[in-house]
Amino acid sequence: MRIRTQCRGCGLPFPAVLTSETAELACPNCGQIRPVSRQGWTDGPDGRVETCPLCGCRHLYRQRDFNRALGCGLVVLGALLVPWTFGLSLAVCGLIDLWLYRRLKDVVVCYQCDTVYRDARPGPRQTEVDLLKHDVLKYGKTWEPTQGPSAEDPHHPGPLLPASPPSAGRRGGLG
Ligand SMILES: [Zn+2]
Ligand SMILES: [Zn+2]
Repeated sequence: MRIRTQCRGCGLPFPAVLTSETAELACPNCGQIRPVSRQGWTDGPDGRVETCPLCGCRHLYRQRDFNRALGCGLVVLGALLVPWTFGLSLAVCGLIDLWLYRRLKDVVVCYQCDTVYRDARPGPRQTEVDLLKHDVLKYGKTWEPTQGPSAEDPHHPGPLLPASPPSAGRRGGLG
């Protein structure tokens, strides 16, 4: 089972392969290890994921395994060629885009930890993403609008910390 997941330690995404013998998954960047459950999912060409083996979440959704950058690039390319092709390029690139989209298969994504299970076939219960469900499962219930800065999110430690120079703020002083 090919997956794409995100490290909970350093926050960086990385691809991995889960087999029935995988007991744990180590981040290639920081080495943090996460246990992998062997229950709730099956490997193979018709693999299913009922329970996320990485976080135990039972809610997953289906998503088209589509490279959005490629799709947008095709449409932009088609638009750029319009003056020379009398608009035909836009139609052709749009069609290629659509064809790519249709022939790509669905993947299964965990609502809670965003891990993508690229070899899994979505089950009947696993429908398109529900954004409200996604927010509730990931960030918790928020029935009332929170005021001020939101609480710290333990799932997002912020992988890109701004590097602040130690002597920043000194201004004007030439010696
Ligand atoms: Zn890591
Ligand atoms: Zn998960």
